Amino acid sequence: MASMRTLDRLGRPLKNLRLSVTDRCNLRCQYCMPEPDYVWLPRTDILTFEEIGTLVDIFGKLGVDKVRLTGGEPLLRTDLPDLIALLAQKRSLCDLALTTNGVLLADQATALRAAGLPRLTVSLDTLQADRFKALTRIDSLDAVLRGLEIAVTCGFNSVKVDTVVIRGFNDDEMVPILEHGRQLGAEVRFIEYMDVGGATRWSMQDVVSRREILHRLSAHYGPIAPVDENTAAPADRFTLPDDTVFGIISSTTEPFCQQCDRSRLTADGQWYRCLYARTGTDLRGAIRAGVTPDDLCQLIATTWQSRDDRGAENRLASENRSALIPVETLQDEPHLEMHTRGG
Ligand code: SAM
Repeated sequence: MASMRTLDRLGRPLKNLRLSVTDRCNLRCQYCMPEPDYVWLPRTDILTFEEIGTLVDIFGKLGVDKVRLTGGEPLLRTDLPDLIALLAQKRSLCDLALTTNGVLLADQATALRAAGLPRLTVSLDTLQADRFKALTRIDSLDAVLRGLEIAVTCGFNSVKVDTVVIRGFNDDEMVPILEHGRQLGAEVRFIEYMDVGGATRWSMQDVVSRREILHRLSAHYGPIAPVDENTAAPADRFTLPDDTVFGIISSTTEPFCQQCDRSRLTADGQWYRCLYARTGTDLRGAIRAGVTPDDLCQLIATTWQSRDDRGAENRLASENRSALIPVETLQDEPHLEMHTRGG
């Protein structure tokens, strides 16, 4: 069956799937996993590669042509290159990417590329070892930097760096991180600190807005120009006077729900139509109950067609904005966590 366009109630296509391959992570970033303990998904619930492949085929029929592997930390998933090789062969996909914290990248970059992964994003919030440890509880900045250095030599079509900017923590590192990315040939994208599930210490005061990021960078570099492009990508891109390109993902202060074509599949097969959605659709249950591919296709299509989520815009409109979900609720329902849902 050829792929079709599946539109939601606001006319947004089903196109972009964030596929979480594990809820586990080897870092404990303060903005994502600040608590001492977490409730993990049962291992028997984790989708097999075969199940993931079946679901990607069905999503592909409905219009999904971009998949990003994420987590948790995707490089913790055993035999990940096998999954990449499986997905790289899917003719329905025009884009396959992976987001990693980079800790295990030095050892895996070559295998990921060889398996057919075209694009890679490495999260890097600081270039200072003491800050890295304070942020993540783990002393592994060197490993991340080494992973990044190796990755840019592996022949990926693109390697990007994602930096969450947090006031008073790393907002003084925007220029050094941009310079580091420029030296490596990796485009940097600054992400506004988001009040997603799991960000239990979030406060609006800690958010450095897109407007402020641009203001501070132009004070340093001179005039910054927007890149003239019309995409549903989360980052708006800009050029510095020397033509260096960087991006800003402004989900917190200038959300882009109107163009959002993204949905998220957790490692245990729960499908969420919005990063902020409270409930998802149990695709693992359906697949393991023997629902036919045609009926799964129908389930996914009708679920998307009823979508009217605008989670980030609703958050922007909410008064007295504070952390989205209390810790106790997250412990009862780990699917509300960013690291489970897939960033
Ligand atoms: N472990 C991988 C990594 O670190 O890139 C993939 C999963 S992580 C949840 C995906 C992305 O979400 C990372 O770039 C991370 O910085 C971002 N993220 C997590 N919590 C966030 C928050 N509260 N605000 C903004 N970005 C966040």
